[in-house]
Amino acid sequence: MYARITAAAEEGRLPAPAMADWDVFPWEVADGAVVPKVLASPGAEKPRQGEPGGSDCLACTGFEPGRIVWEDEHWVLTTSPEPTGLPVVLTLWTREHLDVGDFDDEHAAELGRIANRLVRIIEAMPGIGRAHVNRWGDGSAHSHVWFFARPEGFAQIKGSYAVEWDDILPPVPEETRRADLHTIATKLANWGGHARV
Ligand SMILES: [Zn+2]
Repeated sequence: MYARITAAAEEGRLPAPAMADWDVFPWEVADGAVVPKVLASPGAEKPRQGEPGGSDCLACTGFEPGRIVWEDEHWVLTTSPEPTGLPVVLTLWTREHLDVGDFDDEHAAELGRIANRLVRIIEAMPGIGRAHVNRWGDGSAHSHVWFFARPEGFAQIKGSYAVEWDDILPPVPEETRRADLHTIATKLANWGGHARV
């Protein structure tokens, strides 16, 4: 992996990802130093995707078949259309248009069981240091939980910074990603549901 990354770098440094231009990116260069941006005053929250006044809910519209990794009656596990920098990035969605916090106990228990299995499966894969589980929900009102597999041994690619490296690192070869997704989906299907890759 390191050889593939350094081959994509120029004098060891990878190009800046698109997130450097995002409004939420908290850093900027001023007087030759990297400093936090000046915090703007708060305003009204904008509607999220799938909320009244927001755009249509993509999860309810349906995912492209190529994005679905595994699914059962209540849950859909997806990946991004194109590979990104981390070895595995997955998103677990409810079929129903619910937000995290609105689940009944049975639904919440299912989320815990699937998340626990996914972490166990991903962390048993060669070259994976850890599987991180994240829920933000600032973009879409339809509940979705992220799973980020970080590579083993890279001291800088840790914690929440692993998510930033996902955009910085060159994309994982699609063939490798598909093979890893197949492993995850078939192992998860041992407990139920259907592997789709
Ligand atoms: Zn929805």
